[in-house]
This record gives sequence, C-alpha cells and structure tokens, in this order.
Amino acid sequence: MGLVQVIALGGVGEIGKNCTVVREDDDIVVVDCGLSFPNEEMLGIDIVVPDFTYLVQNQSMVRGVFITHAHEDHVGGLPYLLNQIDVPIYCTEFTQALIRSKLEEKLPHKKIDIRIFKHGDRIAAGKMEIEPVRVTHSIPENCSMAVRTSHGIVFFTGDFKFDFTPVDGKLANITRIGEMGLEGVLLLLSDSTNVERPGWGPSERAVTAGLRNVFAEAEGRVLLTTFASNIHRMQQVYEVAAEMGRKVAVVGRRMEQNLDVCERMGYVKVPKGTRIRLDEMRMYSDKQLAILTTGSQGEPMSALVQMSKGEYGRLQVKQGDTLIYSARPIPGNEGAIWRTINRLFNQGCKVIYESPTPIHVSGHAYQEELKMMINLTRPYYIAPVHGEPRHQYLYNKIASQMGYPDHRLFTMKDGIPLCMDDTSAHFGEQVPCGRVLVDNSGTMDGVPDEVLRDRFNVANDGIVVITVPVDTTAGEMAGDPVIQARAFSGPAGILDAAYDVLFDALAALSKDELKDTARVKHDASDVVRRLIQKRTGLRPLVLPIVVEV
Ligand SMILES: [Zn+2]
Ligand SMILES: [Zn+2]
Repeated sequence: MGLVQVIALGGVGEIGKNCTVVREDDDIVVVDCGLSFPNEEMLGIDIVVPDFTYLVQNQSMVRGVFITHAHEDHVGGLPYLLNQIDVPIYCTEFTQALIRSKLEEKLPHKKIDIRIFKHGDRIAAGKMEIEPVRVTHSIPENCSMAVRTSHGIVFFTGDFKFDFTPVDGKLANITRIGEMGLEGVLLLLSDSTNVERPGWGPSERAVTAGLRNVFAEAEGRVLLTTFASNIHRMQQVYEVAAEMGRKVAVVGRRMEQNLDVCERMGYVKVPKGTRIRLDEMRMYSDKQLAILTTGSQGEPMSALVQMSKGEYGRLQVKQGDTLIYSARPIPGNEGAIWRTINRLFNQGCKVIYESPTPIHVSGHAYQEELKMMINLTRPYYIAPVHGEPRHQYLYNKIASQMGYPDHRLFTMKDGIPLCMDDTSAHFGEQVPCGRVLVDNSGTMDGVPDEVLRDRFNVANDGIVVITVPVDTTAGEMAGDPVIQARAFSGPAGILDAAYDVLFDALAALSKDELKDTARVKHDASDVVRRLIQKRTGLRPLVLPIVVEV
C-alpha cells in the first residue's frame, strides 16, 4: 500500500488561506482554497493567497477541490487557482450559490466546473473517496470532510462548533462522525482557532436574547454590522426586528447579494413585510427601523465606514442611532475598526460592542468541543490546523492530557508533507509553498516582494531621484547631475553630501562605462543610497534616471 501525504499549502501556523492537499500515490485531492488578509506591513495589498506551484506541477493528478464552506478563508483563493489549472470544484448547492458569481466575475473566459454534493454523499477521487459530513458553524451547509485513503480516514473537521440549537435547526451529524471513529480515522486535522477558550462555546441562538435587549432599549434606529456571510446572524435580526415591530433595510453590495441568494434558496426566512428598500425608510419612524450593514472589519470602501465619515450618499447616521457591532475583529483590523466606532460616537451614534448578554458568538469550537471531536473520531494521529503556532501548541497539550503520546501528535508547517504509511508517520521534504500578495490592480498575478519593499521604503523614508545627463555616443557627461527628494526628511546638508559622492563617482567612470546606462544607474544610486543610509539610517527609495543626450 502506498504512502499517504497531507500537505498544507496554507492554513497551519496561521489563521487564513486554508488549502490542504491529500495525496496517495498519483492521486491528489485538495480540501479548501482560501485567502488571508494582509498585515500592516503589506502596503497596498488587498489579499494574500497560497502559492499553488505544487498543484500546477502536479495538475494531472488533481482530482478535485472539495470545499467545506463558503467563508473567504476557505474559498477566496479559488479564482487564483482556477486561473492556473483546470480542476472541478465540489461543494454544497448553497456554497455554489455564494461563490459562482464571484468566480465568473474574476474569470470571465473560463468555464467553471462546479459539482454539487450533499452531506453524506461519497465521491470517488482516484484511489480516495470523499464524504462530507454536516457540522455546525456560522454559515449554512458547513461540512467536515472525510477523505478515505487505503490507510484509513483523513478527517478534516473544517471550521466547526457543536451547536445544539443552531439557527437553521440543522444539527451536526455526530452519529456519522462517531461511526467514522469506529471505521478508523488515521489522522484528525482539527480546527484550533478557539483552543484558548475553556469550556463550551455558547450557541448562536444565545445572540437572539442579546439582540432583543438592544432592540428594546434603543431610542431610535438600530443598525447592526456583521460579516456579509453571517447568514444566521441576519436571520436573527429579521426575527427580532419583526417581533419588535421594526422593518429591516440592508446596505452594502455583498450583504444584499448574499441575502438575495439566501432568500431565494430558503436559507433565510424573512417574516412577511419585514425587509424594506432603503428608499422606503422615510415611510417609517426611527423606532420602526433597523438596518443591516457591511463594514464590520473597518473596510475603507464599506457602507459603515463611509457612513461614519458622513460620506455615504444613500444613508446618514444621526443622533439617537444605536449600532450593534456583531462580529469579531480579524487580527490586523482592530485599528480601522476602533476608528470607525469612534467616528460613529462623534456623530451621536451609540455603538454596542460588548454586552452582558452576547451580541456575537464565535463559530469555532471551545476546548470541551475540541475534546469531544477527538473523542468521537478516535484518531490515530492528530494535527491541529486553522491556528497560529500558539493554538497548535495548546491543542496538542490538551490532546496529550487526553492520553495521546507525543509521537502521535504533529505540529504541521505550510509546505512540509506529513507522510503516513502502514506503521509510522513522519515529516517529508518541503514542497514549493508560500504566499502570493494580490492588490486590486485587476491583475491575477501577485505583487513581487521587491515592489512591496519599495513601497515600504517610500512610505517610511521617502524617495530620492537622481538625474544624470549623459552623451552616450561620446561617453561623456552632458551636464551636471541633479538630486531631488520627496517625502524625505534627512538632516540639513545630507543631499549636498550625497551630491558630492555622486559627482565623484560619475567622474571616476571611463568613457566606455559612461556609454553603459545600466552601469551609470547602478553606480549613481549605489553611492547615494549608501551615504544616506550610513549618515542617517534612512532607506529612501533611490531612483536613478539617465537622460541620454
Ligand atoms: Zn468559517
Ligand atoms: Zn475558517
């Protein structure tokens, strides 16, 4: 029997860009294909996706990409993968409804091959077989993914929590998960995002009570912001609003689109007459209105951020409004979120971001739920995923308290295969792996690291432009060089000193060297960069221009 390899191309040692390969001999299946968000040093970068080189190199073996659920950290990388290889996508009908239009928008000339599965289906993929199992999370139709190999099941929990009163009433199929444990789980790849939280996470239903309190106390309109994909939360807003005699309007393109799809497919049930258009709001008093809005992460172009600045044409916030912040900040977004909240307070809008009865609960399992998943699946090997190194560490500590010996616990790293055969498991050789930084210039290619470094230098230390006039036919200077600086603030005299070293460096060049513009550029920028760095510690972007006369 062959070797089974599990390779994370993203999503371990980090939260985001989940994408994991299971390979047995010449068959590959991929579970999820997500994106992550840039950190504050990645200037001008909008999203980060995995480097798919490994899949491109082995594309003839790739049988399909199996999607657990429609969150961006699990589906956002798909357009970038499909731009490079042709591969069928397998997902639930609901996930398909949320991702298809985005894929078609990004890849207008490509035929997108999406195949729909239902929980409990068994899908053949080469030697392997995939079985999605229903589990609860913060989005409808979420799955764990069982990948049957010849050595046993590789069980991806996906993002999950055990919620016994889910908003849509669809419970996790705990029985089936238990059966898989009896059948034989070779490796459990478990969500570890909330491993630091002891106990059992509250049900999504708990939010209803929190919303009721705020709605009852609000003096004017109630606004609520959450992720555009948090369908269950929006359902609860509709229910509470209807109960309290309020109508609900929706702002934000993505939220409107998602709600339209979900209403059409029956995943959101809007009490009759509750949803109204924005322009119908004037027919009601403030106490009869609620508004759902995007912008929970402080995204600059979102409706909420623009409202907080008074720049949103379709709607203004005003004195007496109450905003419920019903989301968790994605790390890195905290600054933008607090600025938005502060601006809203300045406009007279009361913002509720914490409450004794919850106005937000997490979609990820707490410690006791994680233990229950281990108990149900009874895996031979365990590796935590969907977590940073500290989450992985703590998760394995908990597993060892449950009696797992060290040689059965793994801390995976992106790109390093976990190889399992009949008798043992070990880490293999690194495969091509990394991150691709994408900005909204419209190109699907990543922004190279040099560009990012230049952006960082310009943002921090400014730019110095050197202009050198050269007669390239004669191999002579055709005038004096010029140094100009923008956004640069060195000490007095630094540019004069730079000019002197530049002048000397150019004077030292021979006729032949002066004919070579690349050489002139290199020498000119080199001496100036070194001098500025040595005297001031600054690293401005130094841009040499040779004017050929
Ligand atoms: Zn999720
Ligand atoms: Zn996730």
